[in-house]
Amino acid sequence: AGGPSADNKPRILLMGLRRSGKSSIQKVVFHKMSPNETLFLESTSKIIRDDISNSSFVQFQIWDFPGQINFFDPTFDSDLIFGGCGALIFVIDAQTDFTPSLAILKETLKFVYAESHSCMSCEVFIHKVDGLSDDAKMEVNQQMYQTVIDDLEELGIKHLPVSFYLTSIYDHSIFEAFSKVVQKLIPQLSTLENLLNIFISNSGIEKAFLFDVVSKIYIATDSSPVDMQSYELCCDMIDVVIDISCIYGDEEEGDTSAFDQQSQSVIKLNNATILYLREVNKFLALVCILREDSYDRQGLIDYNFHCFRKGIHQVFELRNKMAALASSAAPN
Ligand code: GDP
Repeated sequence: AGGPSADNKPRILLMGLRRSGKSSIQKVVFHKMSPNETLFLESTSKIIRDDISNSSFVQFQIWDFPGQINFFDPTFDSDLIFGGCGALIFVIDAQTDFTPSLAILKETLKFVYAESHSCMSCEVFIHKVDGLSDDAKMEVNQQMYQTVIDDLEELGIKHLPVSFYLTSIYDHSIFEAFSKVVQKLIPQLSTLENLLNIFISNSGIEKAFLFDVVSKIYIATDSSPVDMQSYELCCDMIDVVIDISCIYGDEEEGDTSAFDQQSQSVIKLNNATILYLREVNKFLALVCILREDSYDRQGLIDYNFHCFRKGIHQVFELRNKMAALASSAAPN
């Protein structure tokens, strides 16, 4: 996949202490590993570059760091690692004493700020919260938030946005958190949201997600609030559709054959709800939730979907043209 900065893809950087769960997150979100299998993962001891851009719309790389990095080590090439970076995800194990993690986070934020990698958004995953009660989750969240805010103030850093997420690989929280992180890296997000809003309001649809099929990250949704249950339902639908296609599809091999231009599905649930999935492009699918009576106007929904799909294609064609222009203008 070329040299480290051979492309202009925004990068996501996964960082954190050893055993905090970085490899597990990467395997579960991008490589379909089941959470239980991560128990047998070997701990990360080097920087791993995982280029998933051939299978996913989300064009980013994950640099899996070993637990400790010495920013002042002369062999540590900060531009290589932080340069052109989109988001830094710092993973903290919430089930252990997180004081050492917070100390490293502080050093990292200081470094990021000093090197003025200001394009980077800093995201803290308070991870492995499956072992905690709701009260404990809130408490840990509050404690970490306060520590980081105090640290930033002490360092005199004002404009480094840091966001916090409670995550676990044993439920959908890790996918939801990744969705939020990735959405920040999509320049066309508001256009996509507008297209989704127009589509659902003209089609009697309650909720719509634009999914990256491989990772089940939603790269955009309409502006009504997201409830976890709807998101989970839509994730499950993708799994069902891919599984059925794998079992009964004509093609024999490859992940991609399970999802193609003809991919579409309608599932009726026993509570008068309908799940509606359509292929948007090679990587993306639209998944919607609607009431059964709204589906009476299926023709209208299908027609609106075609208009929506055309809109999305135009948005990305423009993106590709701009990228081509930028790369032809850039010196080699
Ligand atoms: P790394 O060294 O940061 O890459 O950490 P690993 O990915 O190897 O994970 C260390 C251990 O944490 C493994 O045994 C995982 O099964 C476990 N783990 C990772 N994520 C979670 C989580 O969300 N909840 C729980 N309970 N355990 C997790």
